Amino acid sequence: MKLIEDWEVALRVIEKIEKAGFEAVIVGGAVRDYLLKRNIHDVDVATNALPEEIKQIFSSTVDVGIEHGTVVVLDEGKPIEVTTYRTDGTYRDYRRPEEVTFVRELPQDLERRDFTINAMAFTKDGDIIDLFGGKEDLKKGIIRAVGDANSRFREDALRMLRAVRFSAQLGFSIEEGTMKAIQKDSDLIEFIAKERIHMELSKIFVADYVYLGIKNLIECELANFLPGNFEKHLEEWKNFKAYLPEIGWAYLALLNRDDVTTIWNFYKNSNKEKNFAKKVIQAYEQLLSRWNEYDYFSNDLMILETAYDFAQWQGIDVPFSKDMIAKVKENLPIQSMDDFALNGNLLMKWSE
Ligand code: ATP
Ligand code: MG
Repeated sequence: MKLIEDWEVALRVIEKIEKAGFEAVIVGGAVRDYLLKRNIHDVDVATNALPEEIKQIFSSTVDVGIEHGTVVVLDEGKPIEVTTYRTDGTYRDYRRPEEVTFVRELPQDLERRDFTINAMAFTKDGDIIDLFGGKEDLKKGIIRAVGDANSRFREDALRMLRAVRFSAQLGFSIEEGTMKAIQKDSDLIEFIAKERIHMELSKIFVADYVYLGIKNLIECELANFLPGNFEKHLEEWKNFKAYLPEIGWAYLALLNRDDVTTIWNFYKNSNKEKNFAKKVIQAYEQLLSRWNEYDYFSNDLMILETAYDFAQWQGIDVPFSKDMIAKVKENLPIQSMDDFALNGNLLMKWSE
């Protein structure tokens, strides 16, 4: 496990807060990933001190989300988010409210969190505060809502998709009661901003267990409300593996080639994602009829390699290995557009 510097910095920040007479702990995803021995990517600190009190303790802070109780503390070198214990205000339209209420007790803060595995805290002495059986659920490999699943999803419908996302990232199953609650309320996903749905799907695409994630998306019935024909194409996701979200979006576009506008309109994809998809799909189609030198020349290596992967995920036998792509590209007689000035008729020959 990579115990990143942030963890150490967070502990020093906690110490300082405690010296000032308050209480502070590491919370959420960092505690989960620490217990799972996974890489920790950001360490969040929660405290009973109010944002103004935090700003008095540290000489260098940035107000990033002070209305939500978050202050970024900088004076230990690395930025650490420090958030005052809070409960969410009243929920409207199945969305997390904008306004929050600060509270002085940690249990109230843990209670508002989505899943048991995300609702633990780590003290500076190394104790784990686990009020909802998060450790046990980590051991069993399950995603379980904190409290009554149905009410939690009605408070914030995005949590349903987060459950699927965590299953894809961790290879966990969704606990039966939690799964049933999602099935019951899956239609509420329509209240959630498309940008947030986009973010969750992007995380699913780069997760370690994408196929499991898509299977859960179908089983929990969210797939009924999300364009992409996930059920029809489930098996085509079996070998899928991406290191960038745009590869996932491009693959989704490939699987839905006959109606790709529905995908782009619904998920509000960026031009970058759409252009990338267009290039890869084009290269993929050319691959099926064999790449010529011009295809090798005019496409970036990454586009060609992704198109190659698409063919593999689609179960198409490509009669050469993936490493050949770079080799062929390196050995092209023409390497740059400038060469064309000298040898313009090659282009004519290639495009024949
Ligand atoms: P990662 O950052 O690896 O994607 P995370 O668990 O840190 O995962 P974040 O979205 O960064 O997830 O949220 C941090 C913590 O805040 C979560 O672990 C959870 O405790 C809480 N949380 C986030 N979103 C929600 C939500 N919609 N409802 C309830 N709690 C939430
Ligand atoms: Mg996080």
